[in-house]
Amino acid sequence: MIKTLALKKHFQLARHQTLHAVDGISLEIAENEILGLVGESGSGKSTFGKTLIGLHERTSGDAFYQGEPLPKKFTAADHLRYSKEIQMVFQDPYASLNPRMTVLDMVGERLSLRGMARSEVQEQVAYWLSRVGLHPDHMSRYPHEFSGGQRQRIGIARAMIIEPKFVVCDEPISALDVSVQAQVVNLLEDLQRSMGLTLLFIAHDLSMVRYISDRMAVMYLGTLVETGPSDAVFFSPQHPYTQLLIESNPEPDPKLERTRSAQILTGEITSPVNVGPGCRFSDRCPKAMPHCSNETPEPIAIATDHIVACHLYR
Ligand code: SF4
Repeated sequence: MIKTLALKKHFQLARHQTLHAVDGISLEIAENEILGLVGESGSGKSTFGKTLIGLHERTSGDAFYQGEPLPKKFTAADHLRYSKEIQMVFQDPYASLNPRMTVLDMVGERLSLRGMARSEVQEQVAYWLSRVGLHPDHMSRYPHEFSGGQRQRIGIARAMIIEPKFVVCDEPISALDVSVQAQVVNLLEDLQRSMGLTLLFIAHDLSMVRYISDRMAVMYLGTLVETGPSDAVFFSPQHPYTQLLIESNPEPDPKLERTRSAQILTGEITSPVNVGPGCRFSDRCPKAMPHCSNETPEPIAIATDHIVACHLYR
């Protein structure tokens, strides 16, 4: 359904300063699959999602949707064409909703633009509000009248009303209270199953990503370090970064959290400006070897569909 080959997105900050936000991602997402993309802030996850669907112009590399090459730079006509099948659910539901528009106008906007009659738009919006766990009466209200979780449900209804095939969920639960995160994840999972959606689920909560995703991809400083079936990556991580990321993931049970002796990921993610050769994790890696800092590790299949980019597996 979705495929990228060596996709790159660089930002030119100054004459000799290039930010390597996404630096050669090759990835496939099968139809009806949920792929979870994880990594710390600054790893390039959101930039990858946005570049994939044309919100950023690609620097180089290829992207395909249903076998068809996606344009490097989307024109207004491309956005119009692909928005019928590709949608995005944003991290900050408040920032992504227009405060001056009612829920009816926002959720039904794309149907109105297609020329659908007002009464029909109202019917559709009422249906989709119910489908995402809101009340149809909410359609006359404005975003500020809702809680964070409800606003995210509005954002989801807005993306789903046109019945897309592929949805990028860009940190859809990060801005929400812990108590409502699971509800939103369950809603997305339910919609994915009933609509046969393909999802790219971007998040930094590894437990949540494991719960919802079929496969997991781990990103570090613009590159993929490990991909594989979610359970394999979560319960048997092979890349030192994935191992530390999972070890550093807080244990939901406070009693267990107090007693566990985890090896914690230390230091900050390195700057993605003017990145050189070598393993990008070498300055934080407890298993680093002398050649790690100047030889870039290539991805290696260590089991069926389980790929790791690390010199330990060379
Ligand atoms: Fe660590 Fe070397 Fe593997 Fe990088 S390549 S993760 S530095 S062992």
